[in-house]
Amino acid sequence: MLRVGLTGGIGAGKSAVARLLIDHGAVVIDADAIAREVVAVGTPGLRAVVDEFGPQMLCADGSLDREALGAVVFADPAARRRLEAITHPLVGAEATRRMADAPADAVVVYDVPLLVEAGLSGGYDVIVVVVAPREVRLARLADRGLAREQALARMANQASDSARRAVADILVDNSGSPEDLHDQVAEVWKRFSASIA
Ligand code: ADP
Repeated sequence: MLRVGLTGGIGAGKSAVARLLIDHGAVVIDADAIAREVVAVGTPGLRAVVDEFGPQMLCADGSLDREALGAVVFADPAARRRLEAITHPLVGAEATRRMADAPADAVVVYDVPLLVEAGLSGGYDVIVVVVAPREVRLARLADRGLAREQALARMANQASDSARRAVADILVDNSGSPEDLHDQVAEVWKRFSASIA
């Protein structure tokens, strides 16, 4: 098995790279999706969040009120750390379980936006970082409907490009066209295939 960590700042094109890798046959484990699952209705994760932050964090239907929780943790780094102390171990355990379930000859890609921020850069054979200039990222995010101010606020909460580059074994430069990205990922896949052959 080849264990790959995939990350990139918001709008860099990490999801696009993950999709291309799936087309090549990678098993992609999506940390954001797991992060939603571990606080779904009826989970110990959701109970722990409510114990910590109060029942006002629930919507009328009993699901997590992401906006209410976001307002609390966005304004208060200590609260954010208390939330992460609940969610990160749950996400990590589930990701580890899914990796263990993958076939022995698989290329397993752990798609984790906060790989650098959460100190998760250990434990991979290869770390792939997707980069693109900030203005390009902002323009693509605007096309996707994310306002510039919101995008900038998210970027301010993420690791710097230099911190991400520092952990990269492979840099994917997504400043060009989708075709260019496609070709770069094909090259990356060749390297992966060679290393598990
Ligand atoms: P991330 O997962 O890193 O936040 P995405 O993969 O969702 O970023 O890409 C952000 C937006 O930019 C998406 O709407 C995507 O379709 C678009 N995009 C990604 N790569 C390119 C590219 N090379 N050219 C044009 N648009 C792109």
